[in-house]
Amino acid sequence: MKKKQAEKLSPRPPIVVILGHVDHGKTTLLDYIRKTNVAAKEAGGITQSIGAYEIEHTGKKITFVDTPGHEAFNKMRERGANVADLAILVVAAEEGLKPQTKESIDILNKTKTPFVVAINKIDKPAANIDKVINDLLEAGVLLEKYGGHIPWQGISAKTGEGVNELLDLILLVGEMESLTYSFDVQAKGIIIESKLDPKRGATAAIVLKDGTLKIGDQIATQTAFGKIKTLENFLGKRVDEILPSSPVLILGFETMPQIGEEFWAGGINIVEIKTPPLEAPPERIAVQEEGLKENYINLIIKADSAGSLEALRSIIEAIPLKDQKMKFLEASVGDITDGDIGLAQASKAVIIGFKVKVQKAAQEFARIHNVKIVTSDIIYEIVKILEEGSIAKMPPTILGELEVLAVFNQKTKKQIIGGKVISGVIKANSRLKVKRGDGDLGTGKILNLQQQKQDAKEIKADNECGMLFESDTKINVGDHLVHESQN
Ligand code: GDP
Repeated sequence: MKKKQAEKLSPRPPIVVILGHVDHGKTTLLDYIRKTNVAAKEAGGITQSIGAYEIEHTGKKITFVDTPGHEAFNKMRERGANVADLAILVVAAEEGLKPQTKESIDILNKTKTPFVVAINKIDKPAANIDKVINDLLEAGVLLEKYGGHIPWQGISAKTGEGVNELLDLILLVGEMESLTYSFDVQAKGIIIESKLDPKRGATAAIVLKDGTLKIGDQIATQTAFGKIKTLENFLGKRVDEILPSSPVLILGFETMPQIGEEFWAGGINIVEIKTPPLEAPPERIAVQEEGLKENYINLIIKADSAGSLEALRSIIEAIPLKDQKMKFLEASVGDITDGDIGLAQASKAVIIGFKVKVQKAAQEFARIHNVKIVTSDIIYEIVKILEEGSIAKMPPTILGELEVLAVFNQKTKKQIIGGKVISGVIKANSRLKVKRGDGDLGTGKILNLQQQKQDAKEIKADNECGMLFESDTKINVGDHLVHESQN
């Protein structure tokens, strides 16, 4: 996080996540640390987990994100928000490296998250610490005392052996990271839990990463906003203000924020973005619409993660469109593929991509079939395009155009025509517009397409072809037959 020189920076405790293979002891370790480090009297106050807790070890605080496993961490990472300042990689001493251990290592490397290794279950007779160390070194995790700098500790999450030393290491790594915050900056943090409480409304647990928060502050994420009514610490006690890196439960969001989203105090008010001024109140629009032919914009939405997808979808759904409706044909995670283009082409849909790429083959495919794709890494850009209706208003694009050079048989509607493709591609069985000068005379369908007297599926630009063309319009030499995309 970049900080201005002039800001007064204060140190803040590390926010820690625990990663590792299933059953290697993440939950047991989190439970052990909570039980032994949150004073018994206070711990009694923990009626339900808010997804994170805070401990004190040797007089210093550490925040643990209490949702072990990849899911929570991945969700946050995918949303671009790195909640963790550092991580504990748990590896069971009797099992060694497993697929999720390797995945965790990849995640840690990719996100450049500093971490310490906890070799767990050392109380078990089958524990083989040396083998785990070897496996780790082979996986590129260069441990301290073995040529690297990654601190590690043998522990038993069950008996507690080594856990204090592990906490020492965490504080040490935290200090090396020089984690700081400023009193004066806009508060920023990450949503770690979001629930709908039947009595209290939307509740969101957050960890604060910078600035401070107090009751009455406006607060927003990309998909939700509100004003802080109540702040509760992880023990369920009401507090007036919180400092980084404390976990806290916020009441006051008007809609549910998404897990892993970044939030900030003040700033943008999402209401304005979601509901631009309407010319008529919604009831009237609904009535008017009854008489109209329903006009759907078919959408295929793609995003980089399930979380972004949910966010994108809910934001798009909230856009009021005057005389169109949106219909989601598909919503999935991943880059835009030629399969998506095929679906879009078949259903005349627009593809919206949030934080995803268009695969190379798909780019070409989209160009040929003139499928509209809107991609952006900024959700509001997408919203703007949809709000302005610019997608629906885009003029049709010419996929292929042929100039008629000769006309042979015009006794029936089925006319034999010779021509040259002057741009794009003309495909067998397609429906073409007949243009003469500036005028559109009608349409027709290619019943048969030939190149050099052989049946052809398509004819590319600069090639001549013959076709059997069925149209009510009598074609003249010099007419243009155009294949346009349809909206
Ligand atoms: P997670 O899936 O990584 O959260 O793993 P858990 O914490 O649920 O642990 C899986 C199993 O291993 C449970 O039965 C735990 O009791 C056991 N376990 C965890 N840590 C230890 C340990 O240090 N020693 C022993 N003997 N068992 C452990």
